[in-house]
Amino acid sequence: MDDRIFRNAMGKFTTGVTVVTTKLDDEVHGMTANAFMSVSLNPKLVLVSIANKAMMKTYITHAQKFAISILSQEQKDLSAYFAGQINETRTIYFQWFQEMPTIKDSLVQMICEVHDVVDAGDHTLYIGKVTDINTHSGDPLTFFEGNYHELIKGNQVK
Ligand code: FAD
Repeated sequence: MDDRIFRNAMGKFTTGVTVVTTKLDDEVHGMTANAFMSVSLNPKLVLVSIANKAMMKTYITHAQKFAISILSQEQKDLSAYFAGQINETRTIYFQWFQEMPTIKDSLVQMICEVHDVVDAGDHTLYIGKVTDINTHSGDPLTFFEGNYHELIKGNQVK
């Protein structure tokens, strides 16, 4: 199957957008990811899929901890930045939570310890045990067919 057919099909699955962050010694690293999902309530587990070629894989492998920040619709620029799509290096002021860097003003910030790691083709699935969560009100940044969208809240589908 052609890669484009697969990508186009997966792009029909609307998601939120997260930034995964971690810290190794004194170095902080962030990466945009939408391959994120909730996995289990008891214990509280989430999953993020990281490309094997991403720098983030090395960081998480060594740190064994990561944070997930769910972005608000005002944070499209941060999503593009942490996806390496903005050709500049910025000074980012992270919000520290449980001694881990997270994205300030995001809708949710959660701290995870690596619970399990699964090789999956050209990606690695990191299953994290959630140890703490902060939530804030606001509207999510969404991603559909390769573009960012605002969620227009209207009538619920009956
Ligand atoms: P880099 O490309 O090196 O880092 C990303 C950017 O963040 C660079 O500009 C870097 O300078 C900057 N940066 C990192 N840390 C800091 C810091 N401490 N201070 C300042 N700047 C910093 N890839 C996946 O593997 N899984 C996914 O689920 C996924 N979902 C995506 C969803 C969307 C909407 C988009 C746009 C991209 C997605 N990607 C995903 C692609 C992924 O975000 C990019 O390939 C990313 O560049 C890989 O990150 P990296 O760890 O290699 O780090």
